[in-house]
Amino acid sequence: MRNAGLGGWPARRALMTPDHTAFVFGERSLTYAGVHERTTRLAARLRLAGVAAGDRVAYLGPNHLAFAETLFAAHVLGAVFVPLNFRLAAPEIAYMLADSGAGALVYAPECAAVVRALQHTPPTVVALADPAPGEHAYDDWLAEADPGERASENRGTQADVDGPIDVPVTLDDPALILYTSGTTGRPKGAVLTHGNLVWNSYNMLVGADLRSDEVTLVSAPLFHVAALNQTLLPTFLKGGRSVIMPSWDVDRCYDLIAEHRVTWMFGVTTMFAALARSPRWAGADLSSVRTLMAGGAPVPPALIRTYQERGLVFCQGYGLTETSPGATFLEPSQSLRKAGSAGVPVFFANVRVVRPDLTDTAPGEPGEVLIQGPNVTPGYWNNPAATQAAFVEGGWFRSGDIATRDADGHLHIVDRAKDMFISGGENVYPAEVEGVLAEHPGVAEAAVVGVPDGTWGEVGHAFVIPRAGTGLSGEALRGFLLGRLAKYKIPRYFEVVDELPRTGSGKIRKPELRARAAR
Ligand code: ATP
Repeated sequence: MRNAGLGGWPARRALMTPDHTAFVFGERSLTYAGVHERTTRLAARLRLAGVAAGDRVAYLGPNHLAFAETLFAAHVLGAVFVPLNFRLAAPEIAYMLADSGAGALVYAPECAAVVRALQHTPPTVVALADPAPGEHAYDDWLAEADPGERASENRGTQADVDGPIDVPVTLDDPALILYTSGTTGRPKGAVLTHGNLVWNSYNMLVGADLRSDEVTLVSAPLFHVAALNQTLLPTFLKGGRSVIMPSWDVDRCYDLIAEHRVTWMFGVTTMFAALARSPRWAGADLSSVRTLMAGGAPVPPALIRTYQERGLVFCQGYGLTETSPGATFLEPSQSLRKAGSAGVPVFFANVRVVRPDLTDTAPGEPGEVLIQGPNVTPGYWNNPAATQAAFVEGGWFRSGDIATRDADGHLHIVDRAKDMFISGGENVYPAEVEGVLAEHPGVAEAAVVGVPDGTWGEVGHAFVIPRAGTGLSGEALRGFLLGRLAKYKIPRYFEVVDELPRTGSGKIRKPELRARAAR
């Protein structure tokens, strides 16, 4: 196949289901034929501007139709799409643009100040609105009648599916560079190939059973691997409809679920926690929802129960950017029997839980999760040292996460190895403590970190968001935990807070909390 990657998806879908709605965004909606039409034009424009196979095309902005269009247009050309976290500051964006060597940048008006602050911009800059001198206007590019290369007589032919590429695109070619958020040091660009994305999408279709009449809600930011690869891309492959939220908002989420009869939604734990503590929770119409999937962070059992008590199918998936991301998934049919588990390895991937000497752990014994399979990154962009450090013999990727496996092969994610702390010689996994704290009726959300301690080496420091109208004291929380957890796991310090610092994808920033707690 000449264009074996995602570049052929819009054309193929436009042949199969031209009139089905692919994307809904605010008042706008786009059919599959419309996506194909627009991405072909954009690809031709980018090509005229000099973008060729293998070049990098960056995107900077909140969720928008243009995100998906730019992704597919880059892939039509065999170029690599580099979505950037729009919450980052100019020096961070500058680093990622330079590291990836982006030849083109498409940006949203919300990011204009950051783009103006860059000392060097890629040769081609396209603004979704208000272009500066020397920049191109996105809408003008798409409105201009015939961009040249692809004439309409190609519609529906093999040449149409291939797109205006000069060299064949294989499944081993890079499709995405996703920069890790940097909570673990300088951002690293995880490379995901077309094959990685295709296999991850298959894994979602097999495991999550996505249907062609699915209405999925894209609630998390698309620059994050889960919103893109667990929601938008598999929905597109199957021919379903993605309702794209511009940004996360609890009320808007409830509105969109009701308005579009949403059937499927992925969210990080904090999003589901926020929905459940909203005053709208009790009265919300969730009758259209078939499956909810949480991931990206430990999921407290109390939260799972809250959803299951409403009769909702609430499953968990586990994965990382580097595994595209799905590594394990809990089948909807197992969601009650195995509530709390992150499921079994996705269909096309292998997962092991190992001791430090790389031998497999016994059931119930914690160890590091290793992942191998067609969804696993070939490595980091421009960073052979990081790539080498990420794999052990046999091509197994080191997740840095601790899990146990039960006798049925289901994984239970314990925590990140780097979040674990040692108190009086005993390992404490903050996620376990947070899970028990979440059982307290007055606790909306909790985050625990280890802080240095003269006597015990480290002790726990809990940050707790109370439920509205609840007074919480450290003494009451300590009393609640006594008898539920071993004493060494009970935090020494409790701090009641209104909010917790979060990453762009909504996860709690533990390093920031550690720094705050240590002060
Ligand atoms: P960074 O860029 O700093 O590495 P990150 O580790 O959050 O950020 P991601 O690839 O987005 O980057 O997240 C992967 C991590 O999220 C996993 O390594 C794991 O720690 C956590 N995670 C994902 N799913 C789950 C889950 N179901 N339960 C517990 N933790 C999870």
